[in-house]
This record gives sequence, C-alpha cells and structure tokens, in this order.
Amino acid sequence: MDEFIAQGNDEHLSILHRTTPGWIEVIAGSMFSGKSEELIRRLRRAKIARQRVQVFKPVVDNRYSLDHIVSHSEMRHESGVVETAAEILAQVEEATDVVGIDEGQFFDNELVSVANQLARRGLRVIIAGLDQDYTGRPFEPMPQLLAVAEYITKTHAICVRCGQPANYSQRIVNVEGQVVVGAGDSYEARCRRCFVPHADAPTQYIDNVG
Ligand SMILES: [Zn+2]
Repeated sequence: MDEFIAQGNDEHLSILHRTTPGWIEVIAGSMFSGKSEELIRRLRRAKIARQRVQVFKPVVDNRYSLDHIVSHSEMRHESGVVETAAEILAQVEEATDVVGIDEGQFFDNELVSVANQLARRGLRVIIAGLDQDYTGRPFEPMPQLLAVAEYITKTHAICVRCGQPANYSQRIVNVEGQVVVGAGDSYEARCRRCFVPHADAPTQYIDNVG
C-alpha cells in the first residue's frame, strides 16, 4: 500500500491519505450532450493507466441497465447503484483511485460534501449530470458541484430545431414533476432560442396553439 500514507496525528486527516492531491471534475450539460459518454471515456482511460475505478449511479436511473451506466450512444461501464450520496462514501474502497458518478442531478445535496471528502482524501472524482431541469432552472446539486469543482466540462447537444449547439432539455410530453427519467421520447435538445421554458407548456401544446 505504498500509495497511502497515514497521517493520524491530525484530526482532519484521520483517514488514510494519498501522496497525490485529489480533485473534482464535473461534466455538465443538457440531455443528449454526451455527458455519460465523456464520463465513460475518462473512466476507461483511467483504467488503461491501471488506476482503480469505482462508478456509482442513483437508483432512480434504471432505464437501460441496473448495473451499468449507459450513454445514448450505447457506451457502457459497470456501475454500483446507490440511493443516497452517503452510500457512495460508505462503498468507496480504500484502494480506489477514481470515483465516477453519473446522473449527479438525481442525488441529494450531500453529494457536494461526499465529493469534497473523497477529493480531500486524494481521489479523482468525476461527476456527470444535467445542469438544468426541463424548465431551465439550475438542477441541484449540480450548481454547487460546479462551484467546488477544479475542472468543469460543459457538453452541448445539437438543437433539433435549428442545428445550433443546444444547452437545454426540452420536455415534449405533458408530465408534471422535475424528475421524469426518459430517453429520446420524452425530451429533445434545444438551443436558447428554440427552448420553451415553461413547466406547464410542453412543446406539443405550444405547437398546437402557435
Ligand atoms: Zn435552436
């Protein structure tokens, strides 16, 4: 275990720490912007570099697979499923170098503290997630993660209306609630100009009256 050094003389460093500093990377963007794909790409590269990787996703996201994170382009990576951010902290093993977390927006706000604790321990933490909900509001806890992250990547989809880079997830079915887990049939990528930011005015309705 030479990658660890014990620093038990400091109460803030009572857990085992690595000699290398940790950090937080956030991959944020709209749906269909390739967030999971970018997360999987980074995790694969870490594995090629012989680093130990653990991946987590929230239990709410079981649309493609129970034990993998899967991108829209069908890239996949095995993943643990957790109900809360605290469970991630409990499940990260001592030898793990890199922690990947997908669908960060479906976690509670404790994910911010969990990510900070893991990074402080010397781990590289990579979190992918939707930065805005379907009404265009910042989607907690992603805004806070963006604030504390050392590195931020903003991914963009292509607006289905005009072909410009898309930063918004337009809900195109008439369903209430911030969390509707769905793939291509419930949402589409839109640019700022084409996005209709009303929770109670899905596209189909707007199209009919407008
Ligand atoms: Zn557009």
